[in-house]
Amino acid sequence: MLADLICVGNELLTGLIENSNSGFLSRRLWSAGIIVRESCVIADDRYAIGTALTAAMEESDLIILTGGLGPTDDDLTREAVADILGLSLALNQQWLDKLEHFFFEHGVIMPVNNRKQAFVIEGSILLENQRGTAPGLLVEKDSKLIVLLPGPPHELQMMFDETVLPILVRRNQGKLTKVKTLKCFGIGESILEEKIKEIKNWDLPAISYVARGFEVDLQIKGSGDPAAVNDSIERAENRLKAVLGSYIFGSDDDTLASLVAEMFINRKMTLALVESCSGGLLSDLITDIPGSSKFYRGGLIAYSREAKISLLNIKRELLEREGEVSETTARLMAEGARTLFNADVGIGITGIAGPESDSSQNPVGLVYIAISLSDGCDCRKLNLKGGRRTIKERSVQTTLNMLRIKLTSGQEELNGNSKAD
Ligand code: ATP
Ligand code: MG
Repeated sequence: MLADLICVGNELLTGLIENSNSGFLSRRLWSAGIIVRESCVIADDRYAIGTALTAAMEESDLIILTGGLGPTDDDLTREAVADILGLSLALNQQWLDKLEHFFFEHGVIMPVNNRKQAFVIEGSILLENQRGTAPGLLVEKDSKLIVLLPGPPHELQMMFDETVLPILVRRNQGKLTKVKTLKCFGIGESILEEKIKEIKNWDLPAISYVARGFEVDLQIKGSGDPAAVNDSIERAENRLKAVLGSYIFGSDDDTLASLVAEMFINRKMTLALVESCSGGLLSDLITDIPGSSKFYRGGLIAYSREAKISLLNIKRELLEREGEVSETTARLMAEGARTLFNADVGIGITGIAGPESDSSQNPVGLVYIAISLSDGCDCRKLNLKGGRRTIKERSVQTTLNMLRIKLTSGQEELNGNSKAD
């Protein structure tokens, strides 16, 4: 099945809003074995939307339009699609009742122009929107499927996953296309290619990889009879795990932070941080995870020398002698975190994010990460490349990976993997 995406909105053309709907839909369709032929951005203009739809219907079986379903005068997608399909718009009383109820529940009288959202293309299927006032619409014309979804990403995503995707899968009955993603950290694309070259020739489904920031996603894609697809994906997964070992940290929606959080919760352990160059970024990532209060005791951003002295009791002479960016300082920060917050594990991160080096002329990108437990403290030295943000992000992702390896298999593997990331 081929698909076209038409994202409607002047704000997308001016760059005021990034077109995240296109990426989301492309990823989901790709995973379902539907190839996106073309994806375009169109102005809030009835004629332009119609022209794009006509062109898309020439080539694709599925056309998804996003945005322009709202109540204001510049929301014209519904009207433009009805024009091209030669269909009229009719009031859907049920949706109107629902809208009035929605506004009543929020204690306001429904604005008159919201009535517009209850007008739907004749013969279309209404797609429930639990997060907003615009319903989605699905129309079939000349064996083409045309889907209209509202612009706000949190509305569109839920509607696509819960309503549209199951319809598309049902239409593809009996044939399953499935993609399983294995996520790797600490291994570059070229080394990864070398390692998996041999097994790519085996009787396994297609394996491809995509570098995403500091991670590489390995994608295993199978399609055909559902039982056979599941079986061959599992065989490929086992092979890849045998070759790549702990470079693979998870699959599909896993993140290093979510896996580390799970490990802490399962082991009933607690964590505390003292961050310097990462400026609280690790704390931010950890507290994004629901349930982080079960294991995260707290963190301190000891950015300046004075903060390290007064809050962590690190001796001024030591900092002058060894430098803020040094293994000794990182270790003292990690131990300080553990004792200050009475946690099982303490982390210290200190480094130079640039663009200037520090007074000791340490190179930009030099970072020390220490992990302190009651039975000892490990420290790693990194020489990272990139701008300030990249160095901060890479430092915290490496810290999470060190924690993952430490909690999985202890010291040996931590040292063994130290050159890889
Ligand atoms: P609403 O009822 O909220 O008006 P709508 O279907 O009319 O919904 P738009 O008016 O086009 O949608 O956009 C609503 C919001 O969603 C805007 O904040 C817009 O910037 C955002 N949005 C629209 N399209 C996209 C997109 N492709 N990617 C990311 N955000 C988008
Ligand atoms: Mg709108």
